[in-house]
Amino acid sequence: MNTAEVAVFAGLRGPARTFSYLVPDGLELLPGHLVRVGLGQRAVPGVVITLDGAAAGRELKTVDALVHPLPLLRPHQLALGAWIAERYRCGLADAVRAMVPPALAARARSGGLGTARGERTEAIFALETPGRDALAGSVRVGARQLATLRALASGAVTSRDLADAGGSVAAARALARRGLVLAGSRAVRRVPAEFALADDDRARDLPATGPQAVAIGAITGALGSGRGFLLHGVTASGKTEVYLRAATATLARGDGVIVLVPEIILTAQVVARFIARFGDRVALLHSALSAGERFDEWRRVLDGVADVVIGSRSALFAPLERVGLIVVDEEQEPSYKQESDPRYHAVDTALELGRITGAAVVLGSATPRVVTYEAARKGELASLVLPERVGELALPPTTVVDLRLELRAGNRGTLSQALREALQRAVAAGDQAILYLNRRGFATVVLCRDCGYVAKCPDCEIPYAFHADGALVCHRCGRRERNAPQRCPACGSARIKQLGVGTQRVEEEVRATVPRAKVIRLDRDAIRAKGAHAAAYERMRSGDAQVIVGTQMLAKGFDLPRVTLVGVVNADTILNLPDFTASERTFQLLTQVLGRSGRGEAGGRGIVQTYLPEHYAIRAAAAHDYVAFAEAELEGRRRFGYPPFGRLALLSTQAKKLETVERRTRELAARLREAAGDDAEVLGPAPAFAAKRAGSYRAQIVLRGEPERVLDRVTLSDEWTVDVDPVTLLG
Ligand code: ADP
Ligand code: ZN
Ligand code: ZN
Repeated sequence: MNTAEVAVFAGLRGPARTFSYLVPDGLELLPGHLVRVGLGQRAVPGVVITLDGAAAGRELKTVDALVHPLPLLRPHQLALGAWIAERYRCGLADAVRAMVPPALAARARSGGLGTARGERTEAIFALETPGRDALAGSVRVGARQLATLRALASGAVTSRDLADAGGSVAAARALARRGLVLAGSRAVRRVPAEFALADDDRARDLPATGPQAVAIGAITGALGSGRGFLLHGVTASGKTEVYLRAATATLARGDGVIVLVPEIILTAQVVARFIARFGDRVALLHSALSAGERFDEWRRVLDGVADVVIGSRSALFAPLERVGLIVVDEEQEPSYKQESDPRYHAVDTALELGRITGAAVVLGSATPRVVTYEAARKGELASLVLPERVGELALPPTTVVDLRLELRAGNRGTLSQALREALQRAVAAGDQAILYLNRRGFATVVLCRDCGYVAKCPDCEIPYAFHADGALVCHRCGRRERNAPQRCPACGSARIKQLGVGTQRVEEEVRATVPRAKVIRLDRDAIRAKGAHAAAYERMRSGDAQVIVGTQMLAKGFDLPRVTLVGVVNADTILNLPDFTASERTFQLLTQVLGRSGRGEAGGRGIVQTYLPEHYAIRAAAAHDYVAFAEAELEGRRRFGYPPFGRLALLSTQAKKLETVERRTRELAARLREAAGDDAEVLGPAPAFAAKRAGSYRAQIVLRGEPERVLDRVTLSDEWTVDVDPVTLLG
């Protein structure tokens, strides 16, 4: 008997693994088939990964049954799973599990697959082992049943297939009752999309702009080539329209489309435009769906009812039969990295899926990561640029306000004189304003209010983190200073302390500055209420409110033509985080937020408040100069060997006792240093950025250079997690 490697879903927790099983003679298994197998005393579902030759003298269990007649994972998905397992150093079963909806294992246990609500289905069939024996003459069957068995043996699946071969559904059902045939169903009719948001689709018939036409031509010319593109265009330059037209061309070839968006709630407008254009061919796969809804959407893709898949990173794993185009919108978003096993990055994984399937892969962004920009410059990605906003809207002229001067002038508030005046002018003119506050990196840095000096580790030149006990800690090398300085080492000022402002305080100051205006606050606390984001957007859109104060949530989706002022209250908090992407995230966020201003006829402006007015990330964002930013950033990355000039792996561990963590990290760091040679630097061990969480001490070691070579030489215990190509080192 032959054997099958089966990735077993033995419950949602615990290490999922693959095991070998014997395939009973006559059971026609294919890779990707969902089967039931025995594991210990239990019967569990699993997916067939590979089919191998005969088992030589091994004692194996036998596959119990086929659960569904059609393979659930396509060959290209299995190939992608193997790549993920190798690249991100996880089990193959982890990778495969990421590709099936969470509800699947549960449903598989209770028998069939189920279909989406409200859908018409058709019957499908497959041969069971006893059916094959019957064909060989072991069981007596009637003529129609024999024809049906023969048809199934030669690949028939549907009632049409059976009828063409002289069989019938009635015969197949009769055979199913005798256990000779497996009966299932699949959806046949398109359902109206539940998510159809009303949206006009006026751009559909408008002629493409020159740069759009070039981009669309290049992408559609590359369908089938597996080529990757960087579509670099400022906000409102028409990127979404390029995606839509490339998708139309892809569908015309009979291929499917995958569109990844960072967070579906915050990118509702992009989704709405896809639904407006492609209707119920669209399937939405994202985390806000219930497990059941997610399963239904996934099922529509599997059955070929939907062939335009939009969703968060795991939508990459939709079971499209043919993938012709993959779009990753806002490719710079850190949410494309999964922070649990398998720790894949959706951008790199999308590019690999393109190589496997021949799909064209389009990475879209106004502010691509410098790794992506560098790949385009080196020709690994083809570069497409949309340099201007559609309709000749200018990017808002932006002023940088030096907060150190404000303090010297006696202003102790969080709003500078310039920002207060601009706010008053905007409100007086009947316009709207957005005030943006960075929450990340908040209150962790010790800063001199007079000269902008930031306390840094002398060895690593990254800011110390201020801990609640008053100590300063370097999260790269572990260096620690018991006491934060009382006086600024640079200028002697006593006004050196940790940084921090809250949205509430800003809101109060705004109300005092423009008492007549209606002000909304949108931060993590406010957004807990369901629909708060949409409600706030609606109040601004209708003109009910004039000013909105908020955090990251404002950076996306707030496309409001009457906003003529965007003020950034504290531009530099992220800059002070000890992370290799701190400058990049700052530039990206500032660009995104400033892009909210001047989307209408009235034009707009931006004001950026900072203690670091000379920093290249802030200057480049205010000048809307991506290239200046990227050059400076790449220079720094090159100097320290950070991506794209070296790769990273982050190794983390935790334990209840500090000494346990210290012993464990020391021991591994020593082994890694021995194994590393010239292939990688070993940084640390150092406490993790959140050095203690849920009662456990946490620590990390970073490999920089060619980490995989080193990891190949060292065996790690289960106490360690490995994150290959992390997007942050602030674990
Ligand atoms: P991005 O995705 O880069 O932010 P969009 O595709 O959303 O840009 O385009 C910005 C705006 O311009 C949208 O309102 C869109 O409908 C409109 N638009 C896009 N392409 C064209 C075009 N060729 N002609 C006219 N309007 C367009
Ligand atoms: Zn240090
Ligand atoms: Zn100072």
